[in-house]
Amino acid sequence: MDVDYQALKLTQPGVMPKSERELRASFLAQLELIPGGDKIKACIQCGTCTGSCPVSYAMDISPRGVMALFRAGDIESILRSRTIWVCASCYVCTTRCPSGIKITDILYALKRIAMDKGIFPSRFPVYALSEQFVKMVNKYGRNYELGLVVRFNLKTGWKKFLEMAPLGWKMFRHGRLAFKPTRIKGLEQIRKIISQAEKASVAIEREIPEYASPVGYGVMVEVSKDANRAGGGD
Ligand code: SF4
Ligand code: SF4
Repeated sequence: MDVDYQALKLTQPGVMPKSERELRASFLAQLELIPGGDKIKACIQCGTCTGSCPVSYAMDISPRGVMALFRAGDIESILRSRTIWVCASCYVCTTRCPSGIKITDILYALKRIAMDKGIFPSRFPVYALSEQFVKMVNKYGRNYELGLVVRFNLKTGWKKFLEMAPLGWKMFRHGRLAFKPTRIKGLEQIRKIISQAEKASVAIEREIPEYASPVGYGVMVEVSKDANRAGGGD
């Protein structure tokens, strides 16, 4: 029996939605930039990464789960999770992975895609903090804590800011929070470095093949109904 997948708003079995195919293409392009990035195929789902991760308790998808979701063709769920923003970049998972998978670098790649596509977890604005931090460094050559806190809270809501005010006052009294920003020497050089880094992180457009590749590692495209029937779609 033929199932009317469009009426049911489902994709055909083994065929990803267009949005997911595009995310996958971006992700595979990013993997090519990581030396040994293709080792992601060798994940044996042993869970060593998750077991070693000092912050996995705060993640909604474990590092092992990230690998599993990639295989299952659901990169969007990874991008909408807190995981890539919670990662502390300690590299323990990478050094312990028995398959030599560059898990930390892969999480960075996913972070770049999330920023590029504007896909973020709801009510978890770490990306806003990261964005404002880079702006501060670009402007002053170093962080300007007070400015960062104000800008961050303007973007994400003042409730937290008011909660943190007593701590801010304490830090100010101990000379740990400056009212005025200070610029470093050689600011132009820092700006040039940031500008080059931004150019380097531009997403690479990758050609999507006109045929369906197997579930797991390739970029998949929709197959025609006839081709699907020929493959025994009943
Ligand atoms: S440690 Fe490596 S092989 Fe094991 S689940 Fe994590 S990524 Fe996969
Ligand atoms: S690099 Fe990130 S994911 Fe890996 S162990 Fe450290 S915090 Fe966890």
